[in-house]
Amino acid sequence: MERIQDAYRADTFREDGHRLIDQLADYLEALHERPGEQPAMPYQRPNELWSQWREAPPANIQELFARVLQQSVAVHHPQYMGHQISPPVPVAALAGLLGDFVNNGMGVYEMGMAGTVLERLVVERMARELGFGPEAGGFLTSGGTLANLTALLTARSLKVPERVWTEGQREPLALMVSAEAHYCVDRAARIMGWGSEGVIKVPTDDNYCLRTDLLPECLEAARQRGRRVIAIVGSACTTATGSFDDLEALADFAEAHDLWLHVDGAHGAALALSPEYRHRVAGLERADSVAMDFHKMLTTPSITTALLYKRQRDTYATFQQRAAYLLEWEQPDNWYDLARRTFECTKLMLGLKAYAILATQGVEFWRDYVTRVCRTTEQFAAQVRQRKSLKLAMEPQTNIICFRYHSEGMTEEALNHINRSIRQELLEDGSFYIVQTLLDQSVYLRCTLTNPFTTETHIAGLLEIIEKIGAKLRAGQPSTSALYES
Ligand SMILES: *Cc1c(COP(=O)(O)O)cnc(C)c1O
Repeated sequence: MERIQDAYRADTFREDGHRLIDQLADYLEALHERPGEQPAMPYQRPNELWSQWREAPPANIQELFARVLQQSVAVHHPQYMGHQISPPVPVAALAGLLGDFVNNGMGVYEMGMAGTVLERLVVERMARELGFGPEAGGFLTSGGTLANLTALLTARSLKVPERVWTEGQREPLALMVSAEAHYCVDRAARIMGWGSEGVIKVPTDDNYCLRTDLLPECLEAARQRGRRVIAIVGSACTTATGSFDDLEALADFAEAHDLWLHVDGAHGAALALSPEYRHRVAGLERADSVAMDFHKMLTTPSITTALLYKRQRDTYATFQQRAAYLLEWEQPDNWYDLARRTFECTKLMLGLKAYAILATQGVEFWRDYVTRVCRTTEQFAAQVRQRKSLKLAMEPQTNIICFRYHSEGMTEEALNHINRSIRQELLEDGSFYIVQTLLDQSVYLRCTLTNPFTTETHIAGLLEIIEKIGAKLRAGQPSTSALYES
């Protein structure tokens, strides 16, 4: 019993908690004031790190926290320009701590009263921001991947007249999506049992946007193969290059052919909040459903995703299932027992984290944030254009930018090798964190400008190093990366 009492002691919690917050505040301060002294990426090889922990476990909770902090990629570092995760606003992380502590399960109203109400407020606010009307609704869910699957399940429920839920799926179905879409759309179709033929990948143009002129022939070809197409998924934007599909054209096509239009706006739906950039998502409000990640461009801890619907009533069609032990599912206007409409039964108090930002900073903060990181990315592109040995994949449309080291007369294979080596050297050096992607078989360096404190100076520093490593490798000197060689 003593052990049990010990684990729940209020005074220890108070002490540990204060210490942790101090530690995090010091860390944030150091990243803001002396970023040059901290690595953005304190890279260690997986097996090394694993044996370190196995052989020397932390002596106490402070050491555990300190080590985790020291061994994690610093998303708050202005030279973090890697994957799409945004640096969470500290107040949202605090809200996360509160949510973890009260641990309300959110499946039914009583098990998450405040969380349920805040979720509705966040969803309604975001639906308005995207341009949806008063009929709109939705909920929060655990990630864009799950949101996309859930939206497609709704589409299937509503577009297929047989009762798939009770009788199983009889007809081979399909959806249409850009060849550059996030892999989770393909995965969702396969989970639903549609197989490879269930995903019609429409080719893209020079900017990696879906070629809407090819939609009629893709639809016809699918029909010829005996497929019934029920949905079209727009990318706003794609993950690799940040390319926005023409949502107006997709909406026209969907309307003409009675298709469900889902927009995967996991990354880019947030551009709707920026007066300067919202033209990129023109037509978004015509979608039947939109997925939007708060942990990508809305500075909320992972994972917080809104699945928004043009019509709230559609959300009740997804899971036509009874769970007798839960409460009052039958009431048509029961918006508050969330598990009825979400994939999850128990889920985190996601609305709390986003609401904490809304309540303290207002939506204007998000407008400023989105605008700022997109502008910084345009400055990045301008700097790439000025450097002879660097080349853009395309003009950036959001805060994602792809470019590569380039030199006349080198084979594609050699360029791919150089760009891969550059990224690997940067990873191990750790002062900057960037990633890479493959576009039409060519290796490109890829950055997401997610930290609002990243400036032109940080960008110039990065490009300088890249050119230097590139020139060195081009001259035939071996990569300093021991990892890459092994
Ligand atoms: C990140 C991303 C996803 C996946 O979202 P998660 O929240 O990581 O599950 C889906 N689609 C696009 C376009 C994305 O950028």
